[in-house]
Amino acid sequence: MRSDLLHFIDGEWVKSTGADSIEVLNPATEEVIGTISNGTKEDVDLAVKAARKAFPAFSQTTKEERIALLTRIADEYEKRKDDFVEMITQELGAPIVMSEKVHYNMGLAHFRQVAKELETFEFTEKRGPTLIRKEAIGVSGLITPWNFPTNQTSTKLASAFAAGSTVVLKPSELTPYAALILTEVFEAAGVPKGVFNLVNGSGETVGDAISSHPDIDFVSFTGSGAVGQKISENAAKTIKRVALELGGKSPLIVLDDYDMKKAAKIAAGNVFANSGQVCTAATRTLVSKAKHDEFIEALKGVLPRFSVGNPRDEKTFYGPLVAEKQYNRVQDYIQKGLDEGAELIAGGTGKPEGLETGYYVKPTVFTNVKNDMTIAQEEIFGPVMSIITYDTLEEAIEIANDTIYGLAGYVVGEDEETVQKVASSIRAGRISINNPPSDFSAPFGGYKQSGVGREWGEYGIEEYLEIKAVVGVS
Ligand code: NAD
Repeated sequence: MRSDLLHFIDGEWVKSTGADSIEVLNPATEEVIGTISNGTKEDVDLAVKAARKAFPAFSQTTKEERIALLTRIADEYEKRKDDFVEMITQELGAPIVMSEKVHYNMGLAHFRQVAKELETFEFTEKRGPTLIRKEAIGVSGLITPWNFPTNQTSTKLASAFAAGSTVVLKPSELTPYAALILTEVFEAAGVPKGVFNLVNGSGETVGDAISSHPDIDFVSFTGSGAVGQKISENAAKTIKRVALELGGKSPLIVLDDYDMKKAAKIAAGNVFANSGQVCTAATRTLVSKAKHDEFIEALKGVLPRFSVGNPRDEKTFYGPLVAEKQYNRVQDYIQKGLDEGAELIAGGTGKPEGLETGYYVKPTVFTNVKNDMTIAQEEIFGPVMSIITYDTLEEAIEIANDTIYGLAGYVVGEDEETVQKVASSIRAGRISINNPPSDFSAPFGGYKQSGVGREWGEYGIEEYLEIKAVVGVS
């Protein structure tokens, strides 16, 4: 069993000022992997002090120096591939293939992409008599969730370093180990002392201390809406800027001219990936009444490919949920779907056969879902698809937008004009057409209650910058 009771502050691994610790479980086996420290407000104070001290020098580094730093980080990150893959499978329960192809790769992609964006990024701009300077915002507090342990930390850290901001990171207490490997990567890459600080612990103690700290200038948070709201309230007291990446209830509109077999495969792949623990998951599949039966037939045909199972088995498409709390939450939602009259066509409550240990949930599909049902309105964060039928395209768009969320939207169709009409009508931060590959330069973030701000690529760097007007240049 591991014991990782140290934080990383001012370039050193240090003991917590408190004695509290948190156990970390492997969700596939329900066994304890190890313990981490549950940091304190004093630990956060020390980390913020170190970040503040490092800020003047780091913010004055040249763009070229920061490109070199990001490149060294990416090189060192690649050397730790096996460790990341193994650890993400242990702490999150992600299948080995997914840990490598998605989690490991996404983390790396952000460092490489942001290094590339920096090459053409302009920190100054002359406008008539005024010089506009984009300057690092100061000390940033980063609070991340468990569902993508490398993606969410890396996108925030790459952007912060690119801008010249120093940071205090608190990763999720459910999946803290990928962040510990990342810290070792930063040490090996020579991230200057105090530029990166890590304080482990719970949201209620460490997270709260970060969001309310008077000497933190900006908080970037990914997680639930309820916590996002608390962070905003805390941040408001010292007028801190916040970026919030919150939940979603994203629609996938299937147009009649698209191949239903392909549509079914895309829909299932999207909603079951990472056990449904994806903020952009297309959890509401909108199919026309005319095509409904054909789509269901096609879906039943492809479902066996999206199998739930042991993360160590190469044939597994998705593993367990991250924790018992999430398992119970998802079970309650499936029960609510049944109680409210949705028609279950696959899966349902209870554990899949042969997977009694671990937080496994069956691939579950409901049809005849009405958009006002709980399962169509609330973020389930599990492998649950809700199929909703529509008569006209206008009705499909109306249903798609009838949500408090606006993180992502999906459309599959052949006719370019119709597809673009859908893309421009859905009020969400990212629309994907016909299942495209990832684009790490594209901005990522939500409309409505899905959040505030944008991450990834050039837009991500902007989050960590202040804008200064120097008027009257000689
Ligand atoms: P959460 O919002 O509770 O936790 C996310 C992070 O915030 C963790 O690091 C946590 O320790 C921290 N945190 C918790 N309480 C805090 C507080 N009071 N102050 C500051 N930080 C605090 O999310 P969760 O428990 O990990 O997941 C619950 C739900 O959140 C999920 O079911 C899902 O709906 C949503 N979620 C969304 C995303 C996303 O990418 N949008 C990611 C993970 C979870």
